[in-house]
Amino acid sequence: MYLVRLIYTSRVTRENYAFGPEEISSILETSKRNNQKHHITGLLCFNRKYFLQSIEGSRHEVNKTYERIMRDSRHHDAVILGYEEISERAFSNWNMGFIPESSVTKELITQFGLTDEFEPYKMSAESALGMLKALKGFIE
Ligand code: FAD
Repeated sequence: MYLVRLIYTSRVTRENYAFGPEEISSILETSKRNNQKHHITGLLCFNRKYFLQSIEGSRHEVNKTYERIMRDSRHHDAVILGYEEISERAFSNWNMGFIPESSVTKELITQFGLTDEFEPYKMSAESALGMLKALKGFIE
């Protein structure tokens, strides 16, 4: 079995959904349930505009999960930042950990991004992973 990590970013579909805590809770509830079943682990970061998500697991299950997530009209314009084979998981404790917006500080963004704002479309796979790892301590 090949273990892989996929990191992507996408934009919230504002026209159709007013995204608030309830919408995020619904996504997390479904994600945790499905991911546990398929041995997927990872993190989701959201700042009311962009999603940044890492999913890890068997290549087959990661690909299937990503395909399902891509069919979801609550977000769009997804870009895969990184897809790699890994020897161990970085987020093994979370079927889908959530990083609250308040923990994505300006200092952290400047450290890992090219801009002052959280703009994951401008991040490399390495900096996106570095930022997610640095945020482990803030996971809800
Ligand atoms: P269901 O139990 O059938 O649905 C779950 C809930 O989501 C229901 O309340 C349903 O009304 C609502 N819902 C489902 N699809 C839509 C839609 N297109 N528009 C509005 N509401 C909808 N799923 C995972 O399994 N793992 C993940 O890691 C994961 N991460 C996600 C990250 C993001 C940013 C988004 C937007 C979605 C994510 N999802 C994830 C959800 C995924 O897109 C599918 O909705 C879900 O996997 C469907 O699983 P299900 O058939 O068990 O859900």
